[in-house]
Amino acid sequence: MDTELPDEHRMVRETVRDFCDAEIEPIAQEIEDEHRFPAEIFEQLAELDMMGVPIDETYGGLGGDTLMYALVAEELGRVSGSIGLSYVAHTSLASKPIEQFGTDAQKERWLRPLAEGEYLGGWALTEPESGSDASDMDTVAEKDGEEWVLNGTKQFITNASEAGSILVKAVTDPDAGYDGISTFIVDPREDDGFEVSTIWEKMGLNASPTCEIRLEDVRLPEDRLLGEEGEGWNQTKKTLDGGRISIAALSTGLAQGAYEHAKTYSKEREQFGQPISKFDAIRDKVVDMHRKTERARLLTRRAARTYDKGEPVTRESALAKLDASEAAREVAEDAVQVLGGYGYTTDFAPQRFYRDAKLMEIGEGTSEIQHLVIGRELGL
Ligand SMILES: Cc1cc2nc3c(=O)[nH]c(=O)nc-3n(C[C@H](O)[C@H](O)[C@H](O)COP(=O)(O)OP(=O)(O)OC[C@H]3O[C@@H](n4cnc5c(N)ncnc54)[C@H](O)[C@@H]3O)c2cc1C
Repeated sequence: MDTELPDEHRMVRETVRDFCDAEIEPIAQEIEDEHRFPAEIFEQLAELDMMGVPIDETYGGLGGDTLMYALVAEELGRVSGSIGLSYVAHTSLASKPIEQFGTDAQKERWLRPLAEGEYLGGWALTEPESGSDASDMDTVAEKDGEEWVLNGTKQFITNASEAGSILVKAVTDPDAGYDGISTFIVDPREDDGFEVSTIWEKMGLNASPTCEIRLEDVRLPEDRLLGEEGEGWNQTKKTLDGGRISIAALSTGLAQGAYEHAKTYSKEREQFGQPISKFDAIRDKVVDMHRKTERARLLTRRAARTYDKGEPVTRESALAKLDASEAAREVAEDAVQVLGGYGYTTDFAPQRFYRDAKLMEIGEGTSEIQHLVIGRELGL
């Protein structure tokens, strides 16, 4: 199937795969156990030019397309869900919107360091009281002379404790509904009133920081408004169309990683005098893991290609995200089963894939919300 990929895409994928096998795979469990954000890996990814894959070269990116970016996300997911999650939040949530909606000056100031991998970015939509119903937010931005003043709390923000910029959604006109939301660029290192109030302990993905952040009278100059005032919700919908493709790609990678571990183990482990892969029950499980992974990959690549053609992609990206995240969880669960008692130990990777995969059915819109989105697209 990979023969359909252009040469340049295959080369990028091979480069990242080699890097993942040499540098990430050996530390993947250790960083989870230590709950340690591996800054050195992101520095190396920056050296490989991978921190701005779908960002234009004018602003320090690689100038690749969404398909190329999806291949990189998949490779990272194949070895580490945490690194993959921080990577996709940085790229499609924190960097891409600046390229799509920012002024030239904003791109020079805020996009270039992200694309060149000087630091990571974050994107703050969710709040303690608003998740799936994200537009019902309490964070406000009020004009005071030449400045905007932000107040509110954002919940579950990936990378916030490591970020050099965070795109924050806030209400600028409480009477305007969806048209009353705007996006602001916050500098978590320099802006007074910004605080990371919690870094959550999670059932997986513990090398990727998930933070609660507080904004208390954070004063921003006018040039921190991203795009037009009131455009924040439309921007969010476009960002999530792309973001869901990257969660689908990451999920495909988790499924692939779990499948590979189970396949190898099933050929080595012997019971009743033969490899367990010779038992129909185990063979069928491994075949189904392969089937689900391939299906997730096809849907993900179709969504990426549709995005790259500039065509409407809401249905394709939601379908890919819904299917690939479910596939990742199911394949990882089966991988634990194939490894039996060893699968339940932290000495073996499948349990990590299983715990990481669960988030993919929650972040960037839960599976229930993907059903709502797809239903709407089908006119139901
Ligand atoms: C590790 C992690 C990283 C994250 N990273 C980010 C980030 O970087 N930036 C960011 O802004 N957010 C981030 N999130 C937040 C994530 O997007 C939300 O958790 C998610 O959208 C769900 O919102 P919620 O947790 O408030 O759940 P709720 O919206 O409270 O949902 C609870 C349950 O109700 C269901 N439900 C809700 N509404 C409906 C409905 N209309 N129909 C049917 N079922 C419904 C949901 O599907 C779910 O099962 C992250 C979350 C986690 C855990």
